[in-house]
Amino acid sequence: MNEAGLAESLIRTFSPSGRESGATAVLVSAFESLGYDEAYLDEAGNAVGVLRGGAGPTLMLNGHLDTVPLGDEKEWSYPPLSGAIADGRIWGRGACDMKSAVACMTFAALDARERGFIGTLVVAGAVLEEVGGLGSYHLAETLRPDIVVLGEPSNLSLKLGHRGRVELHGIVPGCMAHAAKAELGENALNRAAAFLSRLEGLVLPEGGPLKRSTATPTYLVSHPKGGTNVVPGSADLIIDYRNVPGDEPEDILRRIQALDPGIRWTIPDSELITENGEIRIRRGEIVGPYLTPGASRAVERSREIICSSLVKNNLPYKEGVWWFATDAPQLARFGAPVIGFGPGEEELAHTTRESIPLEHLPIAREVYADLICGLLVGP
Ligand SMILES: [Zn+2]
Repeated sequence: MNEAGLAESLIRTFSPSGRESGATAVLVSAFESLGYDEAYLDEAGNAVGVLRGGAGPTLMLNGHLDTVPLGDEKEWSYPPLSGAIADGRIWGRGACDMKSAVACMTFAALDARERGFIGTLVVAGAVLEEVGGLGSYHLAETLRPDIVVLGEPSNLSLKLGHRGRVELHGIVPGCMAHAAKAELGENALNRAAAFLSRLEGLVLPEGGPLKRSTATPTYLVSHPKGGTNVVPGSADLIIDYRNVPGDEPEDILRRIQALDPGIRWTIPDSELITENGEIRIRRGEIVGPYLTPGASRAVERSREIICSSLVKNNLPYKEGVWWFATDAPQLARFGAPVIGFGPGEEELAHTTRESIPLEHLPIAREVYADLICGLLVGP
Protein backbone atom coordinates (compact mmCIF):
# COMPACT_ATOMS: atom_id res chain seq x y z
CA MET A 1 0.00 0.00 0.00
CA ASN A 2 1.11 3.58 -0.61
CA GLU A 3 -0.28 6.98 0.44
CA ALA A 4 -2.97 6.99 -2.27
CA GLY A 5 -4.18 3.52 -1.19
CA LEU A 6 -4.39 4.60 2.45
CA ALA A 7 -6.20 7.81 1.47
CA GLU A 8 -8.77 5.74 -0.45
CA SER A 9 -9.33 3.40 2.52
CA LEU A 10 -9.82 6.36 4.83
CA ILE A 11 -12.25 8.08 2.43
CA ARG A 12 -14.31 4.89 2.10
CA THR A 13 -14.72 4.82 5.87
CA PHE A 14 -17.50 7.26 6.80
CA SER A 15 -16.31 9.39 9.72
CA PRO A 16 -18.41 12.47 10.46
CA SER A 17 -17.43 14.40 13.61
CA GLY A 18 -18.11 12.34 16.72
CA ARG A 19 -18.26 9.05 14.76
CA GLU A 20 -14.63 8.65 13.72
CA SER A 21 -13.89 5.21 15.17
CA GLY A 22 -13.97 3.41 11.79
CA ALA A 23 -11.38 5.76 10.29
CA THR A 24 -9.17 5.87 13.38
CA ALA A 25 -9.16 2.02 13.38
CA VAL A 26 -8.02 2.01 9.72
CA LEU A 27 -5.19 4.39 10.59
CA VAL A 28 -4.04 2.53 13.72
CA SER A 29 -3.93 -0.73 11.80
CA ALA A 30 -1.88 0.99 9.06
CA PHE A 31 0.57 2.21 11.74
CA GLU A 32 0.80 -1.36 13.06
CA SER A 33 1.28 -3.05 9.71
CA LEU A 34 3.89 -0.46 8.67
CA GLY A 35 5.98 -1.19 11.75
CA TYR A 36 5.53 1.96 13.84
CA ASP A 37 7.09 1.65 17.32
CA GLU A 38 3.72 2.46 18.91
CA ALA A 39 0.20 2.57 17.53
CA TYR A 40 -2.82 3.26 19.69
CA LEU A 41 -6.09 5.10 20.25
CA ASP A 42 -5.78 7.68 23.02
CA GLU A 43 -8.47 8.54 25.60
CA ALA A 44 -10.15 10.97 23.18
CA GLY A 45 -10.19 8.39 20.37
CA ASN A 46 -7.39 10.01 18.32
CA ALA A 47 -5.25 7.59 16.28
CA VAL A 48 -1.61 7.94 17.33
CA GLY A 49 1.48 6.43 15.71
CA VAL A 50 4.95 6.95 17.17
CA LEU A 51 8.42 6.43 15.74
CA ARG A 52 11.33 6.85 18.11
CA GLY A 53 14.70 8.17 17.01
CA GLY A 54 16.49 8.72 20.34
CA ALA A 55 16.63 11.69 22.71
CA GLY A 56 15.50 14.92 21.11
CA PRO A 57 12.47 17.08 20.44
CA THR A 58 9.00 15.78 19.62
CA LEU A 59 7.54 16.63 16.24
CA MET A 60 3.86 15.97 15.65
CA LEU A 61 2.39 15.60 12.17
CA ASN A 62 -1.31 16.29 12.68
CA GLY A 63 -4.40 15.90 10.54
CA HIS A 64 -8.04 15.37 11.43
CA LEU A 65 -10.02 12.31 10.39
CA ASP A 66 -13.50 13.68 11.01
CA THR A 67 -15.36 15.19 8.09
CA VAL A 68 -18.32 17.48 7.51
CA PRO A 69 -21.59 15.80 6.36
CA LEU A 70 -21.74 14.35 2.84
CA GLY A 71 -24.36 16.78 1.50
CA ASP A 72 -26.70 15.79 -1.32
CA GLU A 73 -25.20 12.60 -2.76
CA LYS A 74 -26.85 13.32 -6.15
CA GLU A 75 -24.69 16.44 -6.53
CA TRP A 76 -21.44 14.47 -6.42
CA SER A 77 -19.79 13.46 -9.73
CA TYR A 78 -18.49 10.35 -7.95
CA PRO A 79 -20.09 8.93 -4.79
CA PRO A 80 -18.77 10.70 -1.68
CA LEU A 81 -17.65 7.48 0.03
CA SER A 82 -16.17 5.88 -3.10
CA GLY A 83 -12.59 7.14 -2.98
CA ALA A 84 -12.91 6.90 -6.77
CA ILE A 85 -9.86 7.65 -8.86
CA ALA A 86 -10.79 9.56 -12.02
CA ASP A 87 -9.54 12.57 -13.98
CA GLY A 88 -6.21 12.38 -12.15
CA ARG A 89 -7.87 12.91 -8.77
CA ILE A 90 -9.14 10.98 -5.75
CA TRP A 91 -12.78 11.87 -5.07
CA GLY A 92 -14.87 11.85 -1.94
CA ARG A 93 -15.63 13.45 1.40
CA GLY A 94 -12.37 13.98 3.26
CA ALA A 95 -10.22 13.63 0.11
CA CYS A 96 -8.91 17.16 0.46
CA ASP A 97 -10.02 17.98 4.03
CA MET A 98 -7.99 16.05 5.03
CA LYS A 99 -7.57 12.30 4.93
CA SER A 100 -5.07 12.39 2.04
CA ALA A 101 -2.70 14.57 4.06
CA VAL A 102 -2.86 12.09 6.95
CA ALA A 103 -2.03 9.27 4.50
CA CYS A 104 0.97 11.24 3.15
CA MET A 105 2.19 11.89 6.71
CA THR A 106 1.88 8.20 7.58
CA PHE A 107 4.23 7.18 4.77
CA ALA A 108 6.54 10.21 5.08
CA ALA A 109 7.35 9.07 8.62
CA LEU A 110 8.67 5.75 7.23
CA ASP A 111 10.75 7.55 4.60
CA ALA A 112 12.21 9.74 7.35
CA ARG A 113 13.02 6.72 9.51
CA GLU A 114 15.01 5.23 6.65
CA ARG A 115 16.95 8.47 6.22
CA GLY A 116 17.35 8.96 9.99
CA PHE A 117 16.15 11.57 12.47
CA ILE A 118 16.90 12.36 16.10
CA GLY A 119 13.93 12.78 18.40
CA THR A 120 10.38 11.52 18.62
CA LEU A 121 7.97 11.58 15.71
CA VAL A 122 4.23 11.40 16.27
CA VAL A 123 1.65 11.04 13.50
CA ALA A 124 -1.80 11.89 14.82
CA GLY A 125 -5.21 11.38 13.18
CA ALA A 126 -7.35 13.72 15.26
CA VAL A 127 -11.08 13.58 15.97
CA LEU A 128 -13.64 16.38 16.33
CA GLU A 129 -11.77 19.12 14.43
CA GLU A 130 -14.84 20.32 12.55
CA VAL A 131 -16.77 20.87 15.79
CA GLY A 132 -14.31 22.67 18.05
CA GLY A 133 -11.07 20.68 18.15
CA LEU A 134 -11.39 18.53 21.27
CA GLY A 135 -9.18 15.83 19.70
CA SER A 136 -6.20 18.11 19.10
CA TYR A 137 -6.81 19.90 22.39
CA HIS A 138 -6.24 16.54 24.07
CA LEU A 139 -3.24 15.62 21.88
CA ALA A 140 -1.46 18.87 22.77
CA GLU A 141 -2.07 18.32 26.46
CA THR A 142 -0.96 14.69 26.59
CA LEU A 143 1.94 14.64 24.12
CA ARG A 144 3.32 18.22 24.46
CA PRO A 145 4.96 18.38 21.02
CA ASP A 146 7.80 20.89 20.49
CA ILE A 147 6.77 21.53 16.87
CA VAL A 148 3.62 20.67 14.94
CA VAL A 149 3.15 20.27 11.20
CA LEU A 150 -0.54 20.65 10.36
CA GLY A 151 -1.65 19.24 7.00
CA GLU A 152 -4.86 21.19 6.30
CA PRO A 153 -5.16 21.80 2.56
CA SER A 154 -2.88 24.61 1.41
CA ASN A 155 -2.33 23.75 -2.26
CA LEU A 156 1.28 22.85 -1.36
CA SER A 157 2.15 26.21 0.20
CA LEU A 158 3.30 27.20 3.68
CA LYS A 159 0.54 28.56 5.93
CA LEU A 160 1.30 30.42 9.12
CA GLY A 161 -2.07 30.97 10.72
CA HIS A 162 -5.66 32.11 10.35
CA ARG A 163 -8.30 34.32 11.93
CA GLY A 164 -10.38 33.00 14.82
CA ARG A 165 -14.13 32.46 14.89
CA VAL A 166 -16.66 33.70 17.41
CA GLU A 167 -20.33 32.80 17.01
CA LEU A 168 -22.71 35.52 18.23
CA HIS A 169 -26.40 34.93 18.91
CA GLY A 170 -28.77 37.89 19.15
CA ILE A 171 -32.38 38.04 20.25
CA VAL A 172 -34.08 40.90 18.42
CA PRO A 173 -37.09 42.24 20.34
CA GLY A 174 -40.42 43.20 18.81
CA CYS A 175 -44.11 43.30 19.56
CA MET A 176 -46.68 41.11 17.79
CA ALA A 177 -49.61 42.65 15.94
CA HIS A 178 -51.93 41.83 13.05
CA ALA A 179 -49.95 42.28 9.83
CA ALA A 180 -52.86 44.33 8.43
CA LYS A 181 -52.44 46.82 11.29
CA ALA A 182 -48.67 46.66 11.62
CA GLU A 183 -48.40 50.07 13.29
CA LEU A 184 -49.84 48.53 16.45
CA GLY A 185 -46.77 46.31 16.82
CA GLU A 186 -43.03 46.56 16.55
CA ASN A 187 -41.58 44.46 13.74
CA ALA A 188 -38.53 42.46 14.88
CA LEU A 189 -37.48 41.94 11.24
CA ASN A 190 -37.40 45.68 10.56
CA ARG A 191 -35.32 46.16 13.68
CA ALA A 192 -32.97 43.38 12.52
CA ALA A 193 -32.71 45.06 9.11
CA ALA A 194 -31.71 48.37 10.71
CA PHE A 195 -29.14 46.56 12.83
CA LEU A 196 -27.72 44.69 9.81
CA SER A 197 -27.23 47.87 7.82
CA ARG A 198 -25.34 49.41 10.76
CA LEU A 199 -23.27 46.21 11.03
CA GLU A 200 -22.33 46.44 7.36
CA GLY A 201 -20.94 49.93 7.91
CA LEU A 202 -18.88 48.95 10.96
CA VAL A 203 -15.10 49.29 10.53
CA LEU A 204 -13.47 46.30 12.24
CA PRO A 205 -9.92 45.92 13.61
CA GLU A 206 -6.94 45.05 11.42
CA GLY A 207 -4.36 42.40 12.34
CA GLY A 208 -1.27 42.40 10.12
CA PRO A 209 -1.01 39.33 7.84
CA LEU A 210 -4.47 38.20 8.91
CA LYS A 211 -5.90 41.40 7.40
CA ARG A 212 -9.14 42.44 9.09
CA SER A 213 -11.87 40.99 11.33
CA THR A 214 -15.21 40.40 9.58
CA ALA A 215 -18.80 40.03 10.80
CA THR A 216 -21.09 37.99 8.55
CA PRO A 217 -24.77 37.49 9.41
CA THR A 218 -25.59 33.85 8.68
CA TYR A 219 -29.03 33.21 10.20
CA LEU A 220 -32.24 35.17 10.80
CA VAL A 221 -35.53 33.57 11.90
CA SER A 222 -38.60 35.44 13.16
CA HIS A 223 -41.20 34.32 15.69
CA PRO A 224 -43.85 33.06 15.89
CA LYS A 225 -42.67 30.49 13.36
CA GLY A 226 -45.02 30.24 10.40
CA GLY A 227 -46.87 33.41 11.45
CA THR A 228 -46.99 34.80 7.94
CA ASN A 229 -49.82 37.26 8.68
CA VAL A 230 -48.35 38.39 11.98
CA VAL A 231 -45.90 41.17 12.82
CA PRO A 232 -43.07 39.12 14.35
CA GLY A 233 -42.61 39.61 18.09
CA SER A 234 -38.96 38.55 18.11
CA ALA A 235 -36.21 37.17 15.90
CA ASP A 236 -33.05 35.12 16.32
CA LEU A 237 -30.00 36.45 14.53
CA ILE A 238 -26.59 34.78 14.27
CA ILE A 239 -23.32 36.42 13.24
CA ASP A 240 -20.24 34.47 12.20
CA TYR A 241 -17.44 36.76 13.40
CA ARG A 242 -13.87 36.12 12.25
CA ASN A 243 -11.37 37.87 14.50
CA VAL A 244 -7.75 38.91 14.14
CA PRO A 245 -5.36 38.59 17.14
CA GLY A 246 -6.08 41.24 19.76
CA ASP A 247 -9.75 41.52 18.78
CA GLU A 248 -11.03 39.72 21.87
CA PRO A 249 -14.50 38.20 22.38
CA GLU A 250 -15.41 40.77 25.10
CA ASP A 251 -14.53 43.68 22.79
CA ILE A 252 -16.46 42.04 19.95
CA LEU A 253 -19.59 41.63 22.09
CA ARG A 254 -19.35 45.24 23.29
CA ARG A 255 -18.95 46.57 19.77
CA ILE A 256 -21.88 44.57 18.38
CA GLN A 257 -24.05 45.36 21.41
CA ALA A 258 -23.48 49.11 20.92
CA LEU A 259 -25.16 49.01 17.48
CA ASP A 260 -28.55 48.41 19.14
CA PRO A 261 -28.61 48.16 22.94
CA GLY A 262 -32.07 46.53 22.73
CA ILE A 263 -30.77 43.40 21.03
CA ARG A 264 -29.37 40.91 23.56
CA TRP A 265 -26.15 39.24 22.36
CA THR A 266 -24.43 36.16 23.75
CA ILE A 267 -21.73 33.71 22.71
CA PRO A 268 -23.46 30.32 23.01
CA ASP A 269 -21.93 27.34 24.77
CA SER A 270 -21.76 23.88 23.34
CA GLU A 271 -20.75 20.56 24.82
CA LEU A 272 -18.04 18.57 23.05
CA ILE A 273 -18.08 14.81 23.71
CA THR A 274 -15.75 12.17 22.32
CA GLU A 275 -17.30 9.13 20.60
CA ASN A 276 -16.28 6.89 23.50
CA GLY A 277 -17.93 9.32 25.94
CA GLU A 278 -14.78 9.52 28.07
CA ILE A 279 -14.03 13.20 27.62
CA ARG A 280 -16.52 16.03 27.58
CA ILE A 281 -16.05 19.77 27.90
CA ARG A 282 -18.46 22.65 27.69
CA ARG A 283 -17.23 25.89 26.19
CA GLY A 284 -18.20 28.87 24.09
CA GLU A 285 -18.40 28.71 20.30
CA ILE A 286 -14.96 30.28 19.97
CA VAL A 287 -11.86 29.22 18.03
CA GLY A 288 -8.95 31.54 18.68
CA PRO A 289 -6.97 33.29 15.94
CA TYR A 290 -3.50 31.86 15.37
CA LEU A 291 -0.34 33.29 13.88
CA THR A 292 2.92 31.29 13.95
CA PRO A 293 5.74 33.47 15.33
CA GLY A 294 7.30 34.35 11.95
CA ALA A 295 10.80 34.93 13.27
CA SER A 296 11.14 31.65 15.18
CA ARG A 297 13.91 29.20 14.29
CA ALA A 298 11.40 26.44 13.50
CA VAL A 299 9.59 28.68 11.03
CA GLU A 300 12.79 29.86 9.34
CA ARG A 301 14.01 26.28 9.02
CA SER A 302 10.61 25.05 7.73
CA ARG A 303 10.59 27.80 5.12
CA GLU A 304 14.01 26.68 3.81
CA ILE A 305 13.04 23.00 3.82
CA ILE A 306 9.69 23.49 2.08
CA CYS A 307 11.24 25.85 -0.44
CA SER A 308 13.99 23.40 -1.42
CA SER A 309 11.55 20.43 -1.55
CA LEU A 310 9.27 22.34 -3.90
CA VAL A 311 12.15 23.51 -6.09
CA LYS A 312 13.18 19.85 -6.50
CA ASN A 313 9.68 19.25 -7.86
CA ASN A 314 9.76 22.35 -10.11
CA LEU A 315 7.06 24.01 -8.06
CA PRO A 316 6.97 27.62 -6.84
CA TYR A 317 7.30 28.40 -3.12
CA LYS A 318 4.38 30.35 -1.68
CA GLU A 319 3.52 31.42 1.84
CA GLY A 320 0.39 32.89 3.41
CA VAL A 321 -2.44 32.27 5.86
CA TRP A 322 -5.51 30.04 5.71
CA TRP A 323 -8.88 31.77 5.31
CA PHE A 324 -10.57 29.11 7.48
CA ALA A 325 -10.04 28.11 11.11
CA THR A 326 -8.09 24.96 12.04
CA ASP A 327 -6.85 23.06 15.08
CA ALA A 328 -3.69 25.24 15.15
CA PRO A 329 -4.71 27.23 18.27
CA GLN A 330 -5.45 23.98 20.12
CA LEU A 331 -2.12 22.47 19.06
CA ALA A 332 -0.18 25.62 20.01
CA ARG A 333 -1.62 25.74 23.53
CA PHE A 334 1.73 24.96 25.15
CA GLY A 335 3.84 27.08 22.84
CA ALA A 336 4.64 24.73 19.94
CA PRO A 337 4.90 26.59 16.63
CA VAL A 338 2.45 25.21 14.06
CA ILE A 339 3.70 24.90 10.50
CA GLY A 340 0.88 24.56 7.97
CA PHE A 341 1.39 22.62 4.75
CA GLY A 342 -1.00 20.31 2.93
CA PRO A 343 -1.95 18.80 -0.40
CA GLY A 344 -5.25 19.76 -2.03
CA GLU A 345 -7.05 22.98 -2.93
CA GLU A 346 -8.68 24.80 -0.01
CA GLU A 347 -11.73 25.84 -2.08
CA LEU A 348 -12.84 22.21 -2.44
CA ALA A 349 -13.11 21.54 1.29
CA HIS A 350 -16.73 21.08 2.50
CA THR A 351 -18.11 21.01 -1.08
CA THR A 352 -19.73 18.27 -3.19
CA ARG A 353 -16.74 18.64 -5.55
CA GLU A 354 -14.29 17.49 -2.90
CA SER A 355 -11.30 15.74 -4.49
CA ILE A 356 -7.52 15.99 -4.55
CA PRO A 357 -4.99 15.89 -7.42
CA LEU A 358 -3.16 12.55 -7.28
CA GLU A 359 0.05 14.35 -8.21
CA HIS A 360 -0.05 16.33 -4.94
CA LEU A 361 0.31 13.19 -2.83
CA PRO A 362 3.93 12.11 -3.50
CA ILE A 363 5.02 15.76 -3.30
CA ALA A 364 3.35 16.25 0.10
CA ARG A 365 4.89 12.95 1.28
CA GLU A 366 8.33 14.17 0.24
CA VAL A 367 7.91 17.60 1.86
CA TYR A 368 6.76 16.00 5.12
CA ALA A 369 9.74 13.61 5.11
CA ASP A 370 12.10 16.54 4.45
CA LEU A 371 10.47 18.50 7.31
CA ILE A 372 10.90 15.56 9.69
CA CYS A 373 14.57 15.03 8.82
CA GLY A 374 15.29 18.76 8.81
CA LEU A 375 13.51 19.59 12.07
CA LEU A 376 14.33 16.49 14.12
CA VAL A 377 18.09 16.94 14.33
CA GLY A 378 18.61 16.25 18.02
CA PRO A 379 18.53 18.23 21.27
ZN1 LIG B 1 -9.90 20.46 7.80
